[in-house]
Order: sequence, then structure tokens, then C-alpha cells
Amino acid sequence: MKCQTPGCTGEHEPRAISHSVIHRQRTLVVHDVPADVCPDCGAVVVHEETILHLDHLLARKARSKRAELVFET
Ligand SMILES: [Zn+2]
Repeated sequence: MKCQTPGCTGEHEPRAISHSVIHRQRTLVVHDVPADVCPDCGAVVVHEETILHLDHLLARKARSKRAELVFET
């Protein structure tokens, strides 16, 4: 996928990132989230289906006291 950043000619490549989200006024870090990352400028694109899945995951996991979790399918 071509990078959307103006002036950048990089090609995004799939990578697992750590993504922080605010869920019910808490900041949670989710590791191993699949995303497309531009190696040139570092722009990160998380697909909509991944974000939807993240929502479900948070709904299930948010009761735990841990501030970090791992993306699982
Ligand atoms: Zn780029």
C-alpha cells in the first residue's frame, strides 16, 4: 500500500505495533496489533476491522486491572 503522507513515496508494510487506547478513562496499551507501517515516515494505518476487533477485545478484557494486553483474534 502506498503511503498517504504528502511527499512520502514509501510503501506501507504489515507490522505488529503497540497501540494505546483510552477505554473508560483508562489508558490501555495493546501489543501485537496488526497495522501497516510506512518504513520511511513512520505513518501507521490500522484497518477498520482491526479497530472493531479491538473494541470487542477491550469490552471483554477491560475488567482486568492490567493496563496492557495482547491483541488476540
Ligand atoms: Zn510514509
